[in-house]
Amino acid sequence: MHLPFEHVVVLDFEATCQPGAAPVPQEVIEFPSVLLALAERRVIDSFEAFVRPVHHPTLTAFCTELTSITQAEVDAAAPFPEALARHQAWLAGHGLLAREGAFAFVTCGDWDLATLFPGQCAAAGIDLVKLPRAYRRWINVKEVFKASGRRAKTLGMVSMLASLGLELEGRHHRGIDDCRNIARIVLALAALGSRFDITARLPSSQYPELPLELRWQGRSESVVLRRRGLATLLGLASGAFHSKMTQAFVADGPPLDDDALCELAPGTIVRMVAAKDEA
Ligand code: AMP
Ligand code: MG
Ligand code: MG
Repeated sequence: MHLPFEHVVVLDFEATCQPGAAPVPQEVIEFPSVLLALAERRVIDSFEAFVRPVHHPTLTAFCTELTSITQAEVDAAAPFPEALARHQAWLAGHGLLAREGAFAFVTCGDWDLATLFPGQCAAAGIDLVKLPRAYRRWINVKEVFKASGRRAKTLGMVSMLASLGLELEGRHHRGIDDCRNIARIVLALAALGSRFDITARLPSSQYPELPLELRWQGRSESVVLRRRGLATLLGLASGAFHSKMTQAFVADGPPLDDDALCELAPGTIVRMVAAKDEA
């Protein structure tokens, strides 16, 4: 059986919260993961860490009620940069950071890696673009569930479990228990033949501005790409060279697409191709 990823890592953050709008910045208070071997459909290992919030160090009663995580637990924990370093060391210890694409994260919804993680990295002064790429693209198990054609009352974790004939185990909204339950959904869907492909990527708005060197017909232009999208790059290059640009290449790679463009290093040389080159 061909699998896009042999291994997936279920990730489910818990964060500071209160009734209504989330605190700003919203900070991670639990950073748990469960590593799965998809082909063998088994749990290999798990990772647990509480995290001490530094911007809003006092948990609300609402937050402890929701997650069961206590003030004493976060007070005794390391702050986010240390937890993230430990998480990466754990991934590396399983050989998952040795090559890009060795694994993908699975989350329940897009909030964990599209919203909370980028905000937490920014608040902690961590450059998200320098982290392993796995933290910038992921599999939302809700999309895999939808594609399986199964019905559930909602796309919440508990409804998906019920639809698969599974009961909630442990404490809902405790990160490690949520990870274990999401892992059970993943394994059940895998047993039914679901494929686990990337379903979401870090929004281009979360990437910093990108300086690039554009080359076309022996000419060179330095530009700064504000939004990392191919259409934006083609528009910028068309203006810079006064000719309608249709494609962009780095070295002798394939034509750049939105995904590859997001991951370019600052200062990369990009070769442009214009409509009239192709005529
Ligand atoms: P979950 O993975 O569903 O346990 O939720 C992750 C985080 O989202 C929690 O740690 C809270 O910070 C926040 N959250 C979840 N449900 C609520 C809620 N009903 N009200 C406020 N925040 C919530
Ligand atoms: Mg969650
Ligand atoms: Mg949770």
